[in-house]
Amino acid sequence: MKVIEKINSQKGKPLFSFEILPPLKGNGIQSIYDSIDPLVEFNPSFINVTYHREEYTYKKREKGYLEKISMRKRPGTVAICAAIFNKYKIDTVPHLICGGFNREETENALIDLQFLGIDNVLALRGDPIKTEPHFNTTDGGHAYAVDLVQQIDGMNKGVYVDDELRDAQPTSFCIGVAGYPEKHFEAPNQTVDLHYLKQKIDAGAEYIVTQLFFDNQKFFQFVDKCREAGIMVPIIPGIKPITNLKHINFMPKFFHVELPEAFTKELLKCKTDAEVSAVGVEWCIAQSKELMQKGVPGIHYFTMGKSTATKKIVKTVF
Ligand code: FAD
Repeated sequence: MKVIEKINSQKGKPLFSFEILPPLKGNGIQSIYDSIDPLVEFNPSFINVTYHREEYTYKKREKGYLEKISMRKRPGTVAICAAIFNKYKIDTVPHLICGGFNREETENALIDLQFLGIDNVLALRGDPIKTEPHFNTTDGGHAYAVDLVQQIDGMNKGVYVDDELRDAQPTSFCIGVAGYPEKHFEAPNQTVDLHYLKQKIDAGAEYIVTQLFFDNQKFFQFVDKCREAGIMVPIIPGIKPITNLKHINFMPKFFHVELPEAFTKELLKCKTDAEVSAVGVEWCIAQSKELMQKGVPGIHYFTMGKSTATKKIVKTVF
């Protein structure tokens, strides 16, 4: 079932959903099931599965030569989506990114998803690969998420890359896109970022899931600004609890978000990961409760494959 249909038929009760990462190469599917099992009792509406493009490493060869090797550390997004639906009958949302794909490869990935009965996709540009200073468009691929949305929307209308295809069957994907309450780090300002966000909606995206944030006011202001800019689709807040000491610096740096002062005041009193986790979970519970009171269509939790903290939150909130 499509995410947008779930949102439209929720009857006022916000949806609970979460995101997982494919396991590192060499690990089995059981680690995925272990992270989903504790959350199944809360009836997740859908589960997102992230996509991770290739990374490059250099291996030392004879005579000191360095060989550049491309590897994908977390393959398996599409297969994991199919496995989850097969085991739990819960809808999945695979992430599809521009980086590393040309248009034909994107089309083939979408055909695989359609054959597997997957109705949803989150269309993203993807981050630059670690060894490159900025995002580089793959030859024959897309530069921005809006171009990917256009391709998927085109397939939904029966338009394929090979324009000589006759009577091509239209696909029927519900397309979600990313939004940034604290603006995307590359955008010169929020107005410009919202201009491009609107382009993604105008191109056929039906809902937005946000980047994580720790200050609900930033989310509420973002929603207001979206509405002023004519972006009228449902906006699902994405949130994540801070659960260890490293997160305190990692989260702002990696996700380009701020921690509110009142929150850091409490976090900095903590001496152990367990203490940080207790404070982080409480903060995330308070965030969730306020978001629900304000009538959000759902709350999306970034579990990053660890469900213990999310379970504590969801148990209290849903
Ligand atoms: P875009 O919408 O293309 O925007 C990227 C930047 O370009 C923005 O600054 C925007 O303002 C600007 N821009 C957009 N369109 C144009 C245009 N036409 N001309 C000029 N500028 C433009 N990354 C992964 O690799 N895998 C994942 O699974 C993944 N999952 C994510 C899930 C969520 C909920 C979120 C919020 C992010 C996720 N990301 C993931 C990270 C995401 O790929 C990065 O944040 C990336 O840098 C931007 O992706 P986007 O889809 O928002 O890009």
